[in-house]
Order: sequence, then C-alpha cells, then structure tokens
Amino acid sequence: MTKSQGRDDWVRATLGSAVRDGDPVTVWCNNRVCGYWLETGRQYRTVLTVADLETYAERYGPATTFIDFSARLRCRHCGSGDVSTIVAGHHKTPAERWRDGSDPP
Ligand SMILES: [Zn+2]
Repeated sequence: MTKSQGRDDWVRATLGSAVRDGDPVTVWCNNRVCGYWLETGRQYRTVLTVADLETYAERYGPATTFIDFSARLRCRHCGSGDVSTIVAGHHKTPAERWRDGSDPP
C-alpha cells in the first residue's frame, strides 16, 4: 500500500525542492478573528510565487523543510501564525500523473 506516500513526500519537501518544482504556494489565514475575515467574510489568502520562495530559500536556507518554513509564516493582515499552505501543482499523486502520462520528463 502506498496511501501515505504523498504525505511523506510533503513532509520531506524543502524550500530548495519547492523552488525546483516551480509551483506557486497558496497561503491562507485560519484565524476567525482576522480583520480581513471580519470585514469581507472570506479568509485572507495570498500566493507565494517561485520568486518569493527563492527569497525565503536564501534567507532560511534551501534545506529548510517546508514544515518549518510554514510554521514561520504569518498572516500579512492580522499577524496570526495560524495559516495553512497548499502547493498548487500537487493535486495529483505521482501514480495519477503516471496514469495520465502528464508526468514531466
Ligand atoms: Zn489573518
């Protein structure tokens, strides 16, 4: 069974590998007393581009795990550390990519 494989890949991901993958990372705020949430009724969301990730990789080091990095992220609106991250290009598991033949060379 490989059900936990994707999760393990995610845990091992580093800032260096995120830059190499070239996928933007979406970050959003889970704080229900965030001013943005109270004003708009939506969670504050921002996207880190590869250029942003390169800046973070230079600051923290490319070997910094993504888990450690996301723990340092703060909502730009309310300053809360209760934020979630998702990598845009990781919807599919490697097995699914292989099955549709869309795995990049
Ligand atoms: Zn917030």
